[in-house]
Amino acid sequence: MRRIYFIVCLCLAVHAGGNLLKGQDAPPPKTPFSFTRLTAHWDEYSSDGYLKFLNEVKPEVAQVGFWGAHFWSLSATPHGKGYPAHFPVQGHRECSQWQENLYGKIHKLGIKPLGHFNVIFLVGDPDSEKGPRGFFKFYNDQWDEAELGPKPVKDPTELLERNRDGSLISNKGYSIGGMKEYWGCLRNPHWRAVLKAWVRFAIRRGVDGFVINYYYRHDCHCTHCVSGFKSHLAGRYDKKELAKNFGIADLQKHTFEEIGSWHSPKTSTLLQREALRFSQVSNKQAFDDVFVKFGRGLKPELILAQWNHIGDFSQIDGDEKCMLPGNLWSSDEDYLWYSLGSSANFTRLKDGFLGEGTLQARYIRGASGDKTYTLGKYESVRIRASIAELAANGGAPMGFYTRVKDPEARKVLTSYYGFLHQHDDLYHDNTSHAEALLIFPRSAVHAGDLAPRDRFKQLGRKLLDEHVLFDILPDDMATPAVRKKYELVVDPNDTNVSAASMQKALPAIRSRFDAPPTVRVSASRPARLDELTVHFVNYNRAERGEGGNPGGTIKDEKPIATKEFSAKIQVPEGFSVKRVEFLTPETGQPASLKHGLSNGQVTIRIPSFSVYGVARIRLQKKAPAKPQPKVAAIVTEYRHNSHADIIVSRLLQTYTLDGKGRTSPLELVSLYTDQVPETDTSRALVRKHGFRLSPTIEDALTLGTGKLAVDGVLLIAEHGKYPRSATGNVQYPKRRFWDETIKVFRSSGRVVPVFVDKHIADNWKDASHIYDSATKMKIPIMAGSSLPTTWRRPAADVRRGAKLKEILAITYGSTDAYGFHALEYCQALAEQRGGGETGIRAVQMLTGKAVWDAFEKKLFDVELFEQAWDRLSWSQAPRDKLTERVPSPLLFRLEYVDGLRVNLLELNGAAAEWSGAWRYADGSSSSSLFWTQEGRPGMHFTWLLNGIEEMILTGKPAWNPERTLLTSGALDALLISRKENQRRVKTPYLELKYQPAWSWKEPPFPPPMRPWSEQ
Ligand SMILES: [Zn+2]
Repeated sequence: MRRIYFIVCLCLAVHAGGNLLKGQDAPPPKTPFSFTRLTAHWDEYSSDGYLKFLNEVKPEVAQVGFWGAHFWSLSATPHGKGYPAHFPVQGHRECSQWQENLYGKIHKLGIKPLGHFNVIFLVGDPDSEKGPRGFFKFYNDQWDEAELGPKPVKDPTELLERNRDGSLISNKGYSIGGMKEYWGCLRNPHWRAVLKAWVRFAIRRGVDGFVINYYYRHDCHCTHCVSGFKSHLAGRYDKKELAKNFGIADLQKHTFEEIGSWHSPKTSTLLQREALRFSQVSNKQAFDDVFVKFGRGLKPELILAQWNHIGDFSQIDGDEKCMLPGNLWSSDEDYLWYSLGSSANFTRLKDGFLGEGTLQARYIRGASGDKTYTLGKYESVRIRASIAELAANGGAPMGFYTRVKDPEARKVLTSYYGFLHQHDDLYHDNTSHAEALLIFPRSAVHAGDLAPRDRFKQLGRKLLDEHVLFDILPDDMATPAVRKKYELVVDPNDTNVSAASMQKALPAIRSRFDAPPTVRVSASRPARLDELTVHFVNYNRAERGEGGNPGGTIKDEKPIATKEFSAKIQVPEGFSVKRVEFLTPETGQPASLKHGLSNGQVTIRIPSFSVYGVARIRLQKKAPAKPQPKVAAIVTEYRHNSHADIIVSRLLQTYTLDGKGRTSPLELVSLYTDQVPETDTSRALVRKHGFRLSPTIEDALTLGTGKLAVDGVLLIAEHGKYPRSATGNVQYPKRRFWDETIKVFRSSGRVVPVFVDKHIADNWKDASHIYDSATKMKIPIMAGSSLPTTWRRPAADVRRGAKLKEILAITYGSTDAYGFHALEYCQALAEQRGGGETGIRAVQMLTGKAVWDAFEKKLFDVELFEQAWDRLSWSQAPRDKLTERVPSPLLFRLEYVDGLRVNLLELNGAAAEWSGAWRYADGSSSSSLFWTQEGRPGMHFTWLLNGIEEMILTGKPAWNPERTLLTSGALDALLISRKENQRRVKTPYLELKYQPAWSWKEPPFPPPMRPWSEQ
């Protein structure tokens, strides 16, 4: 006993030591990237219409372009123009440049481009009359060592899969350009080195991630496969078992007849299944090695997915992951891409066959632990139904190879994707809501027994037909604790369970839907709303002839709308129902539904709809929720689109300023406005929402009680009629607001968090007074612009802790108000650098001709300027006419204590957006557009508000107030420099140090935009 204990301890110690070492150089684990709208194209992507299509449909992710074996085999041949890749130009260089340009344009639309990456499927001839062709010509003659590094081996045939007799495995199934197909072997380290060179090449060309296809292994007997399979068997069986199970007397000397992969389940042997397991586990190791470790080592946020096949739950005869243990099944993939082959791209309604992927969808959702996934249905007819079934079950529709050129399909895609976009709060990161659980018999599949799988499909169909709300989980994930959460667990491993016995076992109290048999029902809970979303997908349609016509276009979808039907839905425990709405992409507006409530069930009538309907059941917590923190707003003026409106109104009108978005956790209880212009909107809001309109700041903070009575204060002094200082900065009454606020804090003996909008004050004296008194009185304080928190296109940040040489930014608008925003995002980048913030030693503002001279003399990194310029999504001047178009350019120059230089160019007349680029000490660089939503609801202000909420809820600032102390002081000093003949102004008072408490997170996709003039 004692000895065993000792051994266990030793193992743990060694293991922990290993982890510690790993922890030092391994990047932090990546959170899977989640999304709800995808488009994917192998062709029709080369015309201008494609980008217009993306802009209409607004997916979050676009799968487009090729970087793996198809690219290197075909793009330099005349055969690249056809299947599979439809390359628009010829040549490795030409094609990669073309794809890089396309990615730049896609980035500007705020969409992430992911490339297809084929990992083994080569096209070529090692030797033909004209010499090597395709892949072999590339490897022998066109491998550019400057781009790809040294070749791992001289002879390309050393990389390939081989038959038992040593010959190369080849095929002529596609006969592209009359060439044969060959396959690289993923177990071969040299082949992986080739893949890594290709991955690096593609990342350098702006790809945000890869969807990786052709994850196959054939009956390869190369030395790596033979030795790999031997060690696989040695790891699972001892000598006796090897002899007994496989007749292998001496594993090392043994030669295998076959080391196959997928095979017929009917004749499956244990050895064949071991070969399949070996194929899949080693493929996963290759994925981890090439893409996760190497790819994410180059680009930590690299988005990864494999392209796999499931069909109608084919397993050992056609699923790439069927033998993988649960912990490897989807690890390190951001999303899952599964093909249904031809199993579900048609209907046969008279036999009750709906041509659906509902079971597969729920299985993938459950087995992956609720990651984003999509289903490839290879169908061009039922576009609405394909989108709806994924949206209903937590997937991301891709409208498979959506027809860019078919106006009818395009119209439907735009309206369905627009619907998902508009109601993103219901879809993004939602969780499944179910009353029953259906077990997927993974353990039996691993053991080669597919009978439980067949029962699983049968029971699943029955549950769907009965309109039961159910989840699917593989048996190894369905722990007793998980099973307990469901009213009913259906386990096809149990041979006694049949469709009839299951129907008897259905709980009497459950959600019931009187829906027609062509309708499937599922339910979800939004990530951040107290709601239950019930989804209905109707597959009824006018079929054309026998077989439900898989070919054709969307004109043949011909949906037949449902009749009205009733539904009784279990209300989640602890909630009552506030109201119910019905949505469908077919009509614009949500319809209010009458509802009855009894015995914990809500009863509604679902109106007639065509293909997709959603009942939105808005819930209300029964027990009184924790009181919301009370907030006072002290503002200069309050009118439509003023900072007061754009920040404070979110507490009244939800995050989207239209009453339809998420609600802030803060409650506005009082408002003081320093000025009341004719266009004031605050008085109307007081009448509508009933908060206190205070005549003084003291009253707003005490609510007339004589003592501090709020939990947070917003000081918003931007806009209004105030004088300008000698240097041109508007003198908003920030110090007066602040001093009156802390007067109440002092007399009450208590402080609460304070947010100061934009700069802390317009001059250093007031800014340092505010900061110092906050520090002295221990007041949590935050200030600044929304720009650090806004979208970056592409998503990029200064690598935390990296040595940084220079930041260059392009700004526009007024120098004090808009220049401040640019200073803020530059400082948010700067503070991430190695050693943390060291402060600013001196600043200088160059104007007019001195700016153009600075270009000539290269007083800043001109190449960084070009990069920042290229990030602007539109610009009013050609790059070479800058001097004509920009009458009064400005250059802000900031010198940091540790040597970092920050240069900001204000280019009114040419630029009307913010961008930036930065150079690391190692010479590499990065750049981005700082994108703001220029229309209501100006959603970037929500990300600013989220930071304020965090401070008021936790008492800790979400980012350092020192950031804004620096930018406020720097702006003040820069304006002094401008006034005093562009002199260099020393700023010893700005030599302050801090470590950043914040890092940028990519905000969710922007909500639909309304003109600024609208509510
Ligand atoms: Zn091999």
